[in-house]
Amino acid sequence: MPLSRALMRQATYPRRIAWSSVIFGSLFFILFTLILLTFTWHKRQHQHQQLLNDSRAALQHSLDALISNTLNPLLSFTRFDCHTISQELTSRAAFAENLRAILLVREGYAFCSSATGAFYLPLNAISEHTDLSRDQDLRLLSGTPLQPDKPAFALWLRNPHSAQSGVLATINLNLAPYQLLASYHPEISGMALVAQNTALTSWQPGLAANSELPPQPLMKQTLEGYPLQFVLYGDTLSMRDIHLIVLTGILLSLLVGGGCWLLLSLNRRPGKEILLGIKRGEFYVEYQPLISTLSGRAYGVEALLRWKHPSEGLIPPDMFISYAESLNLIIPLTRHLFELVARDAHRLNPYLPVGTHMSLNLSPLHLAAESFRQDVLRWIAAMPDNHFNYVFEVTERTMVRDKNAGEIFAWLHENNIQIAIDDFGTGHSALIYLEKYPFDYLKIDRGFVQSIGTQTLNSPVLDAVLHLANKLELKTVAEGVETGEQAAWLVKHGVSHMQGYLFSRPLQPDRLIDYYRCRSLATMAG
Ligand code: C2E
Ligand code: CA
Ligand code: CA
Repeated sequence: MPLSRALMRQATYPRRIAWSSVIFGSLFFILFTLILLTFTWHKRQHQHQQLLNDSRAALQHSLDALISNTLNPLLSFTRFDCHTISQELTSRAAFAENLRAILLVREGYAFCSSATGAFYLPLNAISEHTDLSRDQDLRLLSGTPLQPDKPAFALWLRNPHSAQSGVLATINLNLAPYQLLASYHPEISGMALVAQNTALTSWQPGLAANSELPPQPLMKQTLEGYPLQFVLYGDTLSMRDIHLIVLTGILLSLLVGGGCWLLLSLNRRPGKEILLGIKRGEFYVEYQPLISTLSGRAYGVEALLRWKHPSEGLIPPDMFISYAESLNLIIPLTRHLFELVARDAHRLNPYLPVGTHMSLNLSPLHLAAESFRQDVLRWIAAMPDNHFNYVFEVTERTMVRDKNAGEIFAWLHENNIQIAIDDFGTGHSALIYLEKYPFDYLKIDRGFVQSIGTQTLNSPVLDAVLHLANKLELKTVAEGVETGEQAAWLVKHGVSHMQGYLFSRPLQPDRLIDYYRCRSLATMAG
């Protein structure tokens, strides 16, 4: 992929990384909550099933035990008189758990009670719906004669040898132990024991008709051998479960999104290419001679940064400079330029005459930076002593951007650094700045120079610019001079300095040394 596209893509990385992280975090949230909700749903369902099993088993066990241990042996007692067996009856009832009373029934009449001894009452008066023709019958009673407000079971066991005779046990009914088991599950709102048409519920004291029960039970189970159902009401998942899962999901997805952002930022940090390029030494500097029209000789050089990317090859400075500026990397890049120029300068030192101008292009962003003065002083300290004249080339953008431009320029002058206004005439309202700031050089953009001699243009703008420069006593440097015709025109119009392929292309240090050697040989020969 051409680097231009790669650079474009990189420039949008911060937004893309943010979006990727948001999408990643959201996907994680959805997935996490879905999985955890499903998992918790199954877990709760299993727990509810277990709870129901345990409750049903406990009730079943106590009924079974009551029948086989206490009630069955009493069936034969229905033949006897109450006074002969009442003591036995009472003691059996006393030892059986949850038993309220045992009644002996003969021919439809209860004649003996474990609680009150002998009496005589139709059984239907005690348990209206008990079906005496059945071998076993279980009903819910809203109360018994001695405890009319406390619901109970009426468990009927028929004596197989005698019609309408048998034992009726009234059993205390209490959902509290099962509610205690369910209290760990806030999602279970209630439970009920349903026998035929009536139900004992956890939410009201007396009995309720089946029709009054909530329509959607959570789960139910029938007791084996009894017309009795244990029913749970509520939701599979509690609000607490949902809140916890969603909250954990949000927290974790924030973490995941943040982690993703960090990872992507570190890995695909925009401008990483430039910083890597600096580290790997992919940047170098070429120097283009600046020619004085009076002497026809080089009076200085302009340092132009180059980037040789390992896979992309040479990248035009116009592209990587503005890219570095957009990512706030121009300062490290210019510091690197300072280092490279200082290193080259020590090598060039013996070949370039004392007083040679060393012209550097500076970005307005760097000029406005806090570190600027320190960076410049450090650079000058690293340069060979008393050899070069320093010139900083700045564009009009500097003046537009920085309200303190005047102060910075003054500081540069104090430190013997001259200022050239670069690309003059390409920006806006450049003329204002010419008067306002103390420039030493005015660099005429190569666009103007290249228009010299074309039939379409008589260069009136260039004429005006040169006239103005003369008036303001500014030295002019014409950039991009490629032909003798252009050079002649410029000389004729009083341009004092030139730069362009006509004289030399930008050169690497070795070639620049050759350039200076040739010139001095030519001078000596001349
Ligand atoms: P610039 O400061 O106007 O630099 C002059 C440009 O004109 C250079 O392009 C140079 O190679 C080119 N040039 C010189 N003579 C001729 C000629 O006769 N004909 C033509 N067609 N071109 C000529 P380059 O090196 O590609 O640099 C382009 C721009 O990149 C520079 O324009 C400058 O704005 C920026 N740049 C280069 N190096 C640096 C740097 O170290 N720092 C900063 N901030 N900007 C730099
Ligand atoms: Ca320049
Ligand atoms: Ca220029």
